[in-house]
Amino acid sequence: MKRLEGKVALVTGAGRQKGIGAVCARRLASEGAAVVVTDIGGNFAEFPDYKVGAGEELAAVAEEIGRMGVKALPLFADVADEESVGIMVREAKEKMGRIDILVNNAGGSPGPAPLTQFSLAAWEKTLAINLTGTFLCCREVVPLMIEQGGGKIVNISSRAARRGAIWMHAYSAAKAGVLGLTYSMAVELAPFNICVNALCPGDIETELKQWGLEMEARVKGKTAAELKEEIAGATPLGRLGKPEDVAAAVAFFVSPDSDYLTGEVINVTGGYGLGNATARPAY
Ligand code: NAD
Repeated sequence: MKRLEGKVALVTGAGRQKGIGAVCARRLASEGAAVVVTDIGGNFAEFPDYKVGAGEELAAVAEEIGRMGVKALPLFADVADEESVGIMVREAKEKMGRIDILVNNAGGSPGPAPLTQFSLAAWEKTLAINLTGTFLCCREVVPLMIEQGGGKIVNISSRAARRGAIWMHAYSAAKAGVLGLTYSMAVELAPFNICVNALCPGDIETELKQWGLEMEARVKGKTAAELKEEIAGATPLGRLGKPEDVAAAVAFFVSPDSDYLTGEVINVTGGYGLGNATARPAY
């Protein structure tokens, strides 16, 4: 028997086929879970340069999961919108019967910019997507988990929450908020057998990362490929991360193997920031 058989997972931000959310959803399905894949499915009119997951891709993600032999349900929802999240969770419960696993993966930011040029609208949107979205999804799903006798929540934060990043103050603040929320929920929900943990991915090769690298490259007068090379060079494990690396950590946090872990944070960074990766010892 696969370790997640009989479980239903809801993964937000799963509407980009090569994004972390879709890869996580496929990983959980491969371990036997039925999966509700959700995404906003359309860009924000007020931030035309910021591209989010498209509707057709979400349907394709669900179809692919269906072909893996488990039930898959695609739902559109804006995690930052209270009503939309309420509808999403009600529909998931109606069609799938339960929710055992929640992966709060939807995230992003309308665009890095110097602090003095950062608009209040971009600040608020960034907090809304990453932090308020995580709060709202948890608030709606937790009553079901309590009713069912337990559950697993994984919040996707970021290395930026712990180390900071230039021009990413809103994103860093929101992701740091996600860690605070994780710790408090872990304490509050432990008596209900709900484990709440978080991941801090570093540089993971997705469309969102590519967009961020291209913006950073323009500012630094370099190419995105050059930046990638620099990052790989500064990473002890010698490469950028893959969505599969994050999905593997999610699978651990939602499996019985982590039943005694709550309020924990795992870096998925290849060791970035631990020390000088270029100094190879001569063994
Ligand atoms: P991605 O753009 O592929 O995934 C993010 C998804 O969230 C998109 O499909 C997008 O449509 C969705 N989304 C955005 N706003 C939403 C909203 N309001 N409601 C519902 N869905 C919404 O990017 P990714 O790199 O796969 O990122 C996934 C998560 O990992 C994000 O939370 C991101 O902040 C985090 N992260 C990524 C990296 C990285 O290097 N790629 C590093 C650290 C953390």
